[in-house]
Amino acid sequence: MLSAEEDCFINCPFCLESIAVRIDRTGGQNQFLTYDCEVCCRPITLQVEINDDGNINIMTEKES
Ligand SMILES: [Zn+2]
Repeated sequence: MLSAEEDCFINCPFCLESIAVRIDRTGGQNQFLTYDCEVCCRPITLQVEINDDGNINIMTEKES
């Protein structure tokens, strides 16, 4: 059984640092989140896809 929450690493599209984001699987298979980079504090848009196996795929965009 997979836990509901998982910490995933992404690269900030602004400063390119690797940062951890917490994904909540109970939020659905397709999620749009915004997350402030803990390094440069700029807002990142996250598009999260969770497949049937529970694997989390995250795409990042700069919030305009
Ligand atoms: Zn950053």
